[in-house]
Amino acid sequence: MSDTRYLSWPFFEERHRQLAGELESWAAEHVPHEHGTDVDAQCRSLVRALGAAGWLKHAVGGRSHGAADAIDTRSICLIRETLARHSGLADFAFAMQGLGSGAISLQGTPEQKERYLSRVARGEAIAAFALSEPEAGSDVAAMQCSARVEGGQAVLDGEKTWISNGGIADFYVVFCRTAEAPGARGISAFIVDAGTPGFEIAERIEVIAPHPLARLRFTNCRIPLSQRIGAAGEGFKIAMRTLDIFRTSVAAAALGFARRAMDEALHRATTRKMFNQVLADFQLTQAKLAQMATTIDASALLVYRAAWQRDQGHNVTREAAMAKLTATEGAHQVIDAAVQIFGGLGVVSGQPVERLYREIRSLRIYEGASEVQQLIIARELLKDLGNKAPAPSPVRKTP
Ligand SMILES: Cc1cc2nc3c(=O)[nH]c(=O)nc-3n(C[C@H](O)[C@H](O)[C@H](O)COP(=O)(O)OP(=O)(O)OC[C@H]3O[C@@H](n4cnc5c(N)ncnc54)[C@H](O)[C@@H]3O)c2cc1C
Repeated sequence: MSDTRYLSWPFFEERHRQLAGELESWAAEHVPHEHGTDVDAQCRSLVRALGAAGWLKHAVGGRSHGAADAIDTRSICLIRETLARHSGLADFAFAMQGLGSGAISLQGTPEQKERYLSRVARGEAIAAFALSEPEAGSDVAAMQCSARVEGGQAVLDGEKTWISNGGIADFYVVFCRTAEAPGARGISAFIVDAGTPGFEIAERIEVIAPHPLARLRFTNCRIPLSQRIGAAGEGFKIAMRTLDIFRTSVAAAALGFARRAMDEALHRATTRKMFNQVLADFQLTQAKLAQMATTIDASALLVYRAAWQRDQGHNVTREAAMAKLTATEGAHQVIDAAVQIFGGLGVVSGQPVERLYREIRSLRIYEGASEVQQLIIARELLKDLGNKAPAPSPVRKTP
């Protein structure tokens, strides 16, 4: 088990320390170290196991639906960090239940919550979040997938891509252009059940760290208007609020991958004999280890500051972006250093550090690529400056 001294930081309450300890014991016993080739079956089985053990309750909000009262970001982050340390797929299975149902937790009607959240929390329904499109990834507001109202129904047409859990989800929260206003203000969110006529999986996508992923197609797909989440035109706001919670948790998952790489590197460096010493006796190795540990602590501070701040009810747009940028880029560096410490063994398929090297890559891209996080941070900084800007000082003329 990794160094857990950070759990005494003031961001946490006793219940968080207890949660982290209990999940660590559960994960050590129940999360498989090796995953076979049928990623769909493994994912379904992980969702069922996480639900049966009660962990998925933390991914959704609403006590009456067997869940936590409100979404507690620190719990979600601790769970993702711990699961990611054990298995990328276990973290993925947990995270997608939260991301896929987040819009319903935040803005769903009582009927929608009743119908979906308790099944998500028990691991009996698999959720997906469908925002990205082939021509609208970073530029979300460029989306084209549309929904028009016709005879009391919403009729969906268009495509979504890179959709995690695509092909195995029981329902998809789909963001569509409804054109109440141009750009981001003309988007609405809908729940589409798997098997709805007019909805199909157009393509399954294979990625370097395998998990269910697909391109979705909607052709004259009719759903009741009661499947809309929130008001017409509110979809973009709902998507951003959902991402504000889960963006910090992506950073927590990156932190978990980095901690695992650190553990592996420490073990290897202190046991690998060379030149009549072990690798860790060399100062060049010590410098690497020191940098890795410092990067991990800096990431952890930003992750749990953002999580704590959101749990206090504050806006975290800037803090979540800082956490995601630092933790995902930092984890990439930590894992790369671990691979280097392992030498040839570090690139052998199936080695933990080789797996981590593949797992971390997409975290720097999804839920807002690193460049997008930089833009968000800068925008928030400049906004603050604009609010506080003093009157410009008069230009002094040279005599
Ligand atoms: C494994 C995986 C799982 C995913 N799961 C989901 C999911 O479940 N649901 C969902 O809706 N989407 C999902 N996505 C999609 C993901 O959110 C997008 O891939 C991401 O938003 C980037 O969009 P894009 O791939 O179209 O890249 P583009 O938008 O084409 O961007 C390409 C690159 O351009 C750079 N860039 C972007 N903006 C700027 C800028 N302003 N200035 C300079 N450089 C910039 C970045 O480096 C970026 O990586 C997933 C993606 C992956 C890889």
